[in-house]
Amino acid sequence: MNRILTILFASIATVAFADDKPAKPLGYQDTPIIPGTKWHVHDGERPQPKVVTPGEPSTQAKVGTAPSDAVVLFDGKDVSKWRKGKDQDATWKVENGYMEVRGGDIMTRDEFGPDVQLHLEFATPPASGNGQGRGNSGCFLFGRYEIQILDSYQNPTYPDGQATAIYGQTPPLVNASLKPGEWQTYDIIFEGPRFNEDGTVAKPAIATVLHNGVLTQNHTVLLGDTPHRTVGKYNKHGEKGSIKLQDHGNPMRFRNLWIRELKPVDSQ
Ligand code: MG
Repeated sequence: MNRILTILFASIATVAFADDKPAKPLGYQDTPIIPGTKWHVHDGERPQPKVVTPGEPSTQAKVGTAPSDAVVLFDGKDVSKWRKGKDQDATWKVENGYMEVRGGDIMTRDEFGPDVQLHLEFATPPASGNGQGRGNSGCFLFGRYEIQILDSYQNPTYPDGQATAIYGQTPPLVNASLKPGEWQTYDIIFEGPRFNEDGTVAKPAIATVLHNGVLTQNHTVLLGDTPHRTVGKYNKHGEKGSIKLQDHGNPMRFRNLWIRELKPVDSQ
């Protein structure tokens, strides 16, 4: 009986995995062209996606790792990838694998864009103050488009200023905040704006954000930059820009920051 079952399962497995077997040719050339591409349906000549080794997810106790093709912006040891102002060294404190806000905003020395995937982790300090005064920071793409970082755990404030809000524009879909002191994750997919020669917007910036794995911004179109108490607007800038982290006067902690520039499909 066991033998019959073994043969039966082996046969099912052969059928189930038939599509995964390497075959020559890999695909088809006698099928229709996929509209908008130069490739046939199931075209085996189409470029293979680049192989990337995923990172390990973080836990509260353990810092995760970046995917193999990411640029690590903070590895828990030093803030050398960051500057303060135009060319000063960043002054944020580094200890126990995290950096803590100290002495002003910091910007990445390198610039990234136009489209990126950004991962960051933060922990807010013990609750004191209210609203925007509690556990406030911010992640600015291109140094000007703020994804709000705030202690939004049982801390009401104006919705377009909560954690993962596009500041002053779009509240998060839900509030997925954890308690002060707990490590939280942002995964941001940001499409930088494109500008025409004359400075008008050819394509606005678009942000998708997951907060602790929960979708909070779903392909949200930005109206412009993200100033306080006024409507943002676009000012033409380059295709790459720095990531800025805000010192809003609270001792916020950050760890495991990495970024991937996104390339169009088939461009590997
Ligand atoms: Mg802020």
